[in-house]
Amino acid sequence: MTRDFICSNLSLGSGGHLCFAGHDTAELVRQYGTPLYLMDEQLIRRRCRTYLDAIRKYFGGRGNVLYASKAAAFKRIYEIMAEEGMCVDVVSPGEIFTAFKAGFPMERAWFHSNNKTDEDIRFAMEHDVGTFVIDSTEELLAVDRIAGELGRIQKVMLRLTPGIDTHTFEAVATGKVDSKFGFAIETGQADTVTELALTLENLELSGFHCHVGSMVFDSDVFIRSAKIMLSFIAHIRYTHNYTAPELNLGGGYGVRYLASQPELDLDANLAEVAEKVSAMCRELYLPQPAISFEPGRSIVADAGLTLYTVGMVKRIPGFINYVSVDGGMTDNIRYALYGAEYTVLPASHMEEPREMCCSVVGRCCESDDVIQPNVCLPESTQRGDLIAVCTTGAYNYSMASNYNRVPRPPVVMLDGEKSYVAVKRESLEDLLLLDA
Ligand SMILES: *Cc1c(COP(=O)(O)O)cnc(C)c1O
Repeated sequence: MTRDFICSNLSLGSGGHLCFAGHDTAELVRQYGTPLYLMDEQLIRRRCRTYLDAIRKYFGGRGNVLYASKAAAFKRIYEIMAEEGMCVDVVSPGEIFTAFKAGFPMERAWFHSNNKTDEDIRFAMEHDVGTFVIDSTEELLAVDRIAGELGRIQKVMLRLTPGIDTHTFEAVATGKVDSKFGFAIETGQADTVTELALTLENLELSGFHCHVGSMVFDSDVFIRSAKIMLSFIAHIRYTHNYTAPELNLGGGYGVRYLASQPELDLDANLAEVAEKVSAMCRELYLPQPAISFEPGRSIVADAGLTLYTVGMVKRIPGFINYVSVDGGMTDNIRYALYGAEYTVLPASHMEEPREMCCSVVGRCCESDDVIQPNVCLPESTQRGDLIAVCTTGAYNYSMASNYNRVPRPPVVMLDGEKSYVAVKRESLEDLLLLDA
């Protein structure tokens, strides 16, 4: 059973119940119902502090940590990020508005996205978003024009693609030359756009950004991209007499979805990146830029757990068994979308042997509505039992939908002894709010 506890916030409670962040999952279900998203607030805060402490200890305090809020975006998360002294990365007016309404200090927000409309740009400026991360020449010119109209000097960074393939799966590899994101260094496009940015009057270029992928367990990926980015920064310093104040190395650190995956030592990884970055700067005779990171998943993923109630167990002798639960692709689309793996646990019967192999499936009218295939659950599994899916804090709630008019589950935060609702359960009436 120790293989079940892939994160330190999982443990065994009384009666064979799974505990999460010190709370009995069956108790939580009695109080809040299923399907239910849980989030461990203390773990989220500890992860923020690991990154922030690393900037302080290893990068001379020069750098920012941006929470990539697309991983999980709702008001309470932005409040926590504000309290922890984090910055955030936002990718749409919806995320900007949520952060703004949560009282997040918007000068600490970075606006990403490969297609910002003029309205998006204006909206972001009117809400005092600190920095735009520019993804195209069209955007650069639009941001300059709108900043001029609004009489402001807008801070911008340029997103570059260092040409690295992280060997993680295709859907989440973003640092390659043929990516839809950013300006390629290899092709000379990064040079051209930098030159243009430096001539535009309403912009202040605050540095460069890259983000090469996802589920990275090794500092090597960050070191390789830092090397390419720092060489580029040194080259621009030489050719254009412009010294970039900041280099954002993006996000992408991995988390454990399965016991077979490693447990990442973030602190040690960041220390290694720092050491290599300063060595490279010395070699390039480059004053070290502030170094920033932009983690999403590694802040919130294993702080999340989803609970479901079993509705039926279908055994098809000689073929396959299905266990269906009261949620599905509407609250967790990641297996259907790109085959994401998860650890699935019999939350109410943790101590029973698990001899039934099954697919855990959702309630939607869609054959691909699978939470996870090849799960082992107790033979006794039946209607009313609880199923837990671990490591669901990132890209679950934020990708949730209302397919089949299924209301979205609530997000309940666990904070020491306390639990509280951070996002309410959607009601049937809520589903009708937009129907004219
Ligand atoms: C998604 C994304 C991140 C966060 O990635 P994680 O894998 O969740 O850490 C950071 N920066 C950018 C630009 C992104 O698109």
